[in-house]
Amino acid sequence: MEEENEVVKTFAELGVRQELVLACDRLGWKNPTKIQAEALPHALEGKDVIGLAQTGSGKTGAFALPILQALLTHVLDSEPKKGRRPDPAFFACVLSPTRELAIQIAEQFEALGSDISLRCVVLVGGLDRMQQTIALAKRPHVIVATPGRLWDHMCDTKGFSLKTLKYLVLDEADRLLNEEFEKSLNLILEEIPRDRKTFLFSATMTKKVKKLQRACLRNPVKIEAASKYSTVDTLKQQYRFVAAKDKECYLVYMLSEMPESIAMIFTRTCEGARFLALLLRSLGFRAIPITGQMTQSNRLGALNKFKAGECNILVCTDVASRGLDIPSVDAVINYDIPTNSKDYIHRVGRTARAGRSGVGISLVNQYELEWYLQIEKLIGKKLPEYPAEHDEVMSLQGRVDEAHRLSKMNMKESGGRKKRRGEDDEESERFLGGKNDKRGNNDKRSSKKSRR
Ligand code: AMP
Repeated sequence: MEEENEVVKTFAELGVRQELVLACDRLGWKNPTKIQAEALPHALEGKDVIGLAQTGSGKTGAFALPILQALLTHVLDSEPKKGRRPDPAFFACVLSPTRELAIQIAEQFEALGSDISLRCVVLVGGLDRMQQTIALAKRPHVIVATPGRLWDHMCDTKGFSLKTLKYLVLDEADRLLNEEFEKSLNLILEEIPRDRKTFLFSATMTKKVKKLQRACLRNPVKIEAASKYSTVDTLKQQYRFVAAKDKECYLVYMLSEMPESIAMIFTRTCEGARFLALLLRSLGFRAIPITGQMTQSNRLGALNKFKAGECNILVCTDVASRGLDIPSVDAVINYDIPTNSKDYIHRVGRTARAGRSGVGISLVNQYELEWYLQIEKLIGKKLPEYPAEHDEVMSLQGRVDEAHRLSKMNMKESGGRKKRRGEDDEESERFLGGKNDKRGNNDKRSSKKSRR
């Protein structure tokens, strides 16, 4: 929580160099966020830092700026010794638990480093390995990677090693420590120089994170930017109890009430996300799904459509949405209530980022009450009800039922539940506009119209 009467220091006052202050300015970062204000002085001084930061807090800037500053000061600006400057290649490595987050981190590095010709590469699974090898041959300054793919390159890519590494960042460390990554992570940690700076960021401080901290960091400064499970003040949160059978009508009503919004809708399953996207599209909404069943390139395609504004509604599951940073999102709708209440914090954290405002609405049916109460307990408050006249909402029922029927047919046609990862190309391309789009072709109709 922001403390009142706190004097806000500028980036320059915190010790950030002019070139980077200008880069922040260009990105519209007027003042440091809380985690940046607290972490930067220590990180710029060369200390190891542990940051407990909530999603959307600006933590990427908190570790990217000190790394870029060190790269400028100690390498790019330094006097050549015996005619040679220190090698700036593979200066820093950021480990991230998801591909999407890795890409976003790299985007922030590139945006902040554009004036200093920063070279940054992303090494994640699901993307072409050969291209990554070629990018590594150009000796980038910063690598952003998921542990598995990084370890693959460390083993197999000729001429690539991290022996010059000066900075390691473990981002979302609590999630890096899952079964999938733990082994590669340990192997990487054994291989890289011990004489380096380390930043560890995590939403929660679990036992495993503490162990990792002890193994990796030296006398770290600990910074906590927010209470563990709080949501930001600029987020307006509401709920609505509805019968399970009325949920679709309520969702359509809510979206019609916010026609200009950029919204993310969360469902529990991949099928649910695909189905809702079909249903909304047949009602004239510009919706697109993103699910774990889609191939990586289709996921990125969907994400780009959403980021570019071609679609203003992203229907997704928790797994597919992890770490997504799309600053323009101003509404999150929990169509299905998450069974794990911490997922609620992650979901609504997709909006109201870095001081912007946003709304998070939860549609709760009779079977989800218990989970919803857990959420209220976790965030420590009772939320107000989303205001809507039930009769007005249900006046949409005829159209919504028809859309439901059509979408069900379409789901059946395209394989329904039997679909497996990678088998979704044809359908995804239809969403992405690559193939004849029988269902989403009425996109341009205004969503308000769909209520009539
Ligand atoms: P992060 O928590 O690093 O994922 O950042 C969330 C969003 O906040 C990103 O879109 C950043 O571009 C943005 N951001 C980071 N630092 C600032 C700042 N000081 N002022 C305004 N926006 C920021």
